[in-house]
Amino acid sequence: MTTTTPVDLEAYRREARAWIAANLAPREIGQDPVAANLRGSREYTREQMAAERPKQRALFDAGYAGITWPVEYGGQGLTRAHERAFLEEAAGFELPDFGYAGSMTFGVCAAVILAHASEDFKRRHLPRMLKGEELWVQFFSEPSGGSDLAGIRTRATRDGDTWILNGAKVWTSFGHLADWGLCLARSNWSVPKHRGLTWFGVPVDAPGVTVRVIRLINGGADFCEEFFDDVVIPDAERIGDVDQGWTIAQTMLVHERGGSTEVPDAPLEPGPLAPDLVALAREVGRIDEPHARQLIAQAHSLMFLRDALSRRIRRTLKLHGANPGYAAYWALAHGTFDAQRANLSIDLARGHLVAWEPSETEGVAASTALAFLNGKINSVAGGTDQMQRNAISEQVLGLPREPSFDRDKPFDQVVRDAEHWDGRVTGPTGPSHS
Ligand SMILES: Cc1cc2nc3c(=O)[nH]c(=O)nc-3n(C[C@H](O)[C@H](O)[C@H](O)COP(=O)(O)OP(=O)(O)OC[C@H]3O[C@@H](n4cnc5c(N)ncnc54)[C@H](O)[C@@H]3O)c2cc1C
Repeated sequence: MTTTTPVDLEAYRREARAWIAANLAPREIGQDPVAANLRGSREYTREQMAAERPKQRALFDAGYAGITWPVEYGGQGLTRAHERAFLEEAAGFELPDFGYAGSMTFGVCAAVILAHASEDFKRRHLPRMLKGEELWVQFFSEPSGGSDLAGIRTRATRDGDTWILNGAKVWTSFGHLADWGLCLARSNWSVPKHRGLTWFGVPVDAPGVTVRVIRLINGGADFCEEFFDDVVIPDAERIGDVDQGWTIAQTMLVHERGGSTEVPDAPLEPGPLAPDLVALAREVGRIDEPHARQLIAQAHSLMFLRDALSRRIRRTLKLHGANPGYAAYWALAHGTFDAQRANLSIDLARGHLVAWEPSETEGVAASTALAFLNGKINSVAGGTDQMQRNAISEQVLGLPREPSFDRDKPFDQVVRDAEHWDGRVTGPTGPSHS
């Protein structure tokens, strides 16, 4: 555990402000950071990511990367309050933008590595993350293992001091732009599915890794599938104990569900009245209609509720520790409210979101249509709404577990039974899950 250097917060804020003004570019006036980061609103490229890396390096060299991370892994060992002060000062400026690879590297993968990797692993990888030299993404989901994450079939076979990986992953956000993947694999097939999993760091450019980009309905192409053919991974790149990966998966789920996001100390204010929807109502000529105004007010209230609830849940997580069940409330709130807000925007725009001139792709109609498509993201990513409800009912409310036909069977038998299933139901039924 790092000792925290006591640094006067106000002095720190002043220094940060001066450094930011001297070193970061101001964000363009009128640029809405939320709209600019809508998934699919821009295509990230290797060149663009490469251009961001020196910016991350500059942050690191100045001591503004990994503000709360332990000093021994390249961080500053300071408090959340210092991090918040820096982010508040930097709000009007351009920080390095690695898209989802950034949030995955710093928000999820690093948190998992900090909690579970060996000392040697942490000292090797975490400073490189902070310097912008390693971007990490998540190699979890597979065709047979999405909601049923414990049902993954990528095979890890031990061979002396190395492991050989074979299998496939899918829905990897930013897989084609990353350097490493945090990969869940099955290391033991003769025990029940939750007990034979192990985590590895896998270089995206390792021999035997093939990355294919998937084109999406929103026009974006930032999802990938990966194929592993006899990929050799040194045992030194293993995270946590062999076959104990399910415990680590719980940590991952908490962070994936927003459990590590910073909680503001300031009282939560409702914020401005849905600026994107006000602009939309103006554009479609409905700003004076009472019904349109009600829709805007409804959307505004939903976001206020969502954010108030999120803040409360994150506080609860801080008090009760990393419980994926509590984190599931956050994910469910986002999955539910974001989709509702997206529907309200469609009601508001009426037919205007159906089509637009190619020249108007930057306009309000196009971005609202994209926001509508993206409104579904949080009801699937990091676990679907149904899985969040299951997690809440079982892990927080203590309700009975969902019936499972495969929880206690050796996994190789589960696979054999599935291959030879005659369609008849003989035991407890229903899908199995975490
Ligand atoms: C924007 C986005 C980003 C993503 N990024 C990544 C990433 O970077 N890396 C990665 O590995 N994965 C990623 N994913 C994949 C994501 O984790 C999976 O899509 C998700 O876990 C659901 O799995 P699935 O798609 O296989 O759906 P399935 O598991 O096949 O589910 C299909 C439907 O069945 C329902 N269902 C399944 N089991 C149950 C049950 N037991 N009880 C009730 N209902 C059930 C589900 O709720 C859903 O409606 C991403 C997904 C999205 C949308």
